[in-house]
Amino acid sequence: CRHGGDDGGGTPRTTPEIRYTKLFINGRFVDAASGKTFETRDPRTGDVIARVAEGDKEDVDLAVKAAREAFDHGEWPRMSGSERGKVMAKYAEVVERHADELAALESLDAGKPLAAAECVGILRYFAGAADKIHGETLKMSRQLQGYTLREPLGVAGLIIPWNFPTMMFFLKVSPALAAGCTIVVKPAEQTPLSALFLAHLSKQAGVPDGVINVVTGFGPTAGAAISSHMDVDVVAFTGSTEVGRLIMEASAKSNLKPVALELGGKSPFIVFDDADLDKAVELAIGGNFFNKGEACVAGSRVFVQEGIYDRFEQKLADTMKSWVVGDPFDPRVNQGPQVDKAQYERVLGYIEQGKAEGATVLTGGNPCGKKGYYIEPTIFTNVKDDMVIAREEIFGPVMCLMKFKTVEEAIERANGTRYGLAAGLVTRDIDVANRMARSIRAGVVWVNCYFAMDRSCPFGGRKMSGFGKDDSMHALDKFLAVKSVVTPVHGSPW
Ligand code: NAD
Repeated sequence: CRHGGDDGGGTPRTTPEIRYTKLFINGRFVDAASGKTFETRDPRTGDVIARVAEGDKEDVDLAVKAAREAFDHGEWPRMSGSERGKVMAKYAEVVERHADELAALESLDAGKPLAAAECVGILRYFAGAADKIHGETLKMSRQLQGYTLREPLGVAGLIIPWNFPTMMFFLKVSPALAAGCTIVVKPAEQTPLSALFLAHLSKQAGVPDGVINVVTGFGPTAGAAISSHMDVDVVAFTGSTEVGRLIMEASAKSNLKPVALELGGKSPFIVFDDADLDKAVELAIGGNFFNKGEACVAGSRVFVQEGIYDRFEQKLADTMKSWVVGDPFDPRVNQGPQVDKAQYERVLGYIEQGKAEGATVLTGGNPCGKKGYYIEPTIFTNVKDDMVIAREEIFGPVMCLMKFKTVEEAIERANGTRYGLAAGLVTRDIDVANRMARSIRAGVVWVNCYFAMDRSCPFGGRKMSGFGKDDSMHALDKFLAVKSVVTPVHGSPW
């Protein structure tokens, strides 16, 4: 593979000092009750970068207690929306001032560059949304009138994955804050550092103690303690479909708290004969190898119509020759290391399985570099819909290329998955685009683009990709309860 240096050759813009490694509860950094810690590693080298407090049930209990107190008696849910928005805008400003440090921390812990501005944008969007939460007035009958209140649900448990640690933090925390909820966040055990730093910045910005609490630790212990907690009022989760199922089970077995689930995907990316070839190839590459394939919306099933297939395949293989895998601190690098050893081995396992199932390796197919968790961007051809690599989410730099003939076939095969997160298509034919957009069962359909996200655009899946939306005003819904208030009209017999 073309490798841009596996010896940590790139230099971060700032060498981050790791200052926050303890749990953040009620506005203070504290050790885990058990005193236990766990390692977090640099995926470029596999070296340990810090030991972080390992929170468990006892710590979650303390964090929930702090959040409960802040919700039941604190000012946050009682402030006006515009007051909350002001504090959130200040928080955005403080994060922006520390963007370099945050970016370096994220690269070190997650092996990736950070679009800090985008993350701050999420916070700003919801700072602006905080004073636009309102109910309806109802003329119910001659005797009765009513109105609805949209009230914060209470203590929100936010459980997030490692693939975009900072962004996931803000995608969940921002609407919860805007709604007036108080929060217990559990970041992924692979990437705990940014959430702790962001907790520190929230305090600097004036978010009251107890409103944001962060418990670092593992899923089956700290995560499960949140999802099964009797005093957590709602859980918003992003992660795998398997764990999403456990979260729902935990809710069902505890207090029936509402849950919102953003889960995995196996999204189709469909190229029609009339497509702009250059654009289609570029989008397919971005859709598969952006963030080293560690993206829930990766367009990993690439369906190409037979008339353009050969040219597409050739162009794809040629373009990948200049693709550089290596240290994410190096600006020439297109693709960094997988997040940790477990993911690295999992992805390589899928690649071996693809070969064993009889798919053909067009590019890549091997690990890359002398150390760290690097994998060559891998493209399989001769893939059949029922192969494991075409059915299961790989969450790594692996593309499956498949040929199709008709629009009907494309619809059927695109929908032939248990997932329904995203879809992409490239065509100049508006009729085909419209028909596909209406027929594909997914949360988002990108026409002549991919990964085109915006804070104003709802994001979230269907089928086994979950339910509930991130981004947009819809994201607030999961943190709000609608209450109806009814009063008789003056002079009515009530
Ligand atoms: P994961 O499900 O293993 O972990 C996600 C989070 O859940 C982590 O914080 C983990 O500690 C926690 N967790 C694990 N077991 C738990 C349990 N029993 N109870 C409570 N919490 C538990 O997922 P991952 O491997 O970190 O992330 C990759 C997955 O996330 C992929 O499937 C990907 O598609 C999905 N994802 C989805 C979206 C989306 O918006 N739909 C976005 C990013 C990632």
